[in-house]
Amino acid sequence: MINAFKYRLYPNAHQARELETMLETHRRLYNECLAQRKERYEIAQKSVKYTQQSAWFKSERGVNEWYARLNFSSAQATMRRLDKAFQAFFRRIKAGEKPGYPRFKARGRFDSWTYPAHGDGARLLDGQLRLQHVGLVKVRQHRPVEGAVKTVQVKNEAGKWFVIASCNIGDGPAPRAEDTSVGLDVGLAYFLSTDQGEHVDNPRYQKEALRQLRIAGRAVSRKRKGGRNRAKAVARLRAIHARVANKRRDYHHKVARDLVSRYAFIAAESLTVSNMVRNRRLSRSISDAGWRQFLNILRAKAESAGSVWVEVPPQGTSQACSGCDTLVRKSLSVRQHHCPECGLRLQRDVNAARNILARGQARMEPVRLNVAQ
Ligand SMILES: [Zn+2]
Repeated sequence: MINAFKYRLYPNAHQARELETMLETHRRLYNECLAQRKERYEIAQKSVKYTQQSAWFKSERGVNEWYARLNFSSAQATMRRLDKAFQAFFRRIKAGEKPGYPRFKARGRFDSWTYPAHGDGARLLDGQLRLQHVGLVKVRQHRPVEGAVKTVQVKNEAGKWFVIASCNIGDGPAPRAEDTSVGLDVGLAYFLSTDQGEHVDNPRYQKEALRQLRIAGRAVSRKRKGGRNRAKAVARLRAIHARVANKRRDYHHKVARDLVSRYAFIAAESLTVSNMVRNRRLSRSISDAGWRQFLNILRAKAESAGSVWVEVPPQGTSQACSGCDTLVRKSLSVRQHHCPECGLRLQRDVNAARNILARGQARMEPVRLNVAQ
């Protein structure tokens, strides 16, 4: 099971310049290799292989001082990244689709590079990251890594530097009984509810953050546009957003780990952007973003642990009775489900979670029938 740990980097001024140069060199390498492939495709309708580009890069390092200052394996990772984009492109052509040709990366659209083997060009030490050609960069390690570091990614987000360490954390959670199934409903009153009546509360920091964000947001709108105080207020607002995002991600990982360790079959509602309510209220939009991220994390963990993961359309799951399927209309403020037909009484979200589980199991049904025959 692979888990990613993300930490903020604090390079000194010299190191920050080196990091920027390195990112820019990786970007140019990516674009130069893309140009080679494009030209060959246009002239001869042939593709350039990754191995050919890797060999070209090896000799090019002898004459290009910028390329010479890239760690060789990390440069290969950038060329492989391009190769992946092309493989996806050709796969989609084969499937009869009309994909867009892989694009040149403009400045700002290329934000990271990777060291595919820990220790080759990058090594995470206690509170420091040793980077070839850059030196020892300070790391704020707010939680320790678990397991053995496999790959190291260096990333720039809005001017700030981060390191993302992908770790192998062993075989994942202990084996579970096979018939442990769960249906999950996400909501505003509770962060999530299960079909078995368990509720996970919205984390407290969300409330605190909302208050801070409102205050910081008002401070921004009070300041004169283009003024220096406004820029400061904007920076403060961004810092709060970043802190909230970090705490939220940690919380999501924790809740997801717990669920995956307990259930072999997980059904959740599919939250595509189109069926999410676009709402301008701050609390609502934060929850929207949170659920999507949480379900993505949960899905990744479930899949890597070998659990069955099913997404079902959420329409009507809160209105239908999980006991008899009768439609019991209720507004958002009604917290109880009470069915006039079969008399079932349940907390509203638990009823929804039961419907989600039933839909998820129904989707898997044909497979089971085939096995039985
Ligand atoms: Zn009923």
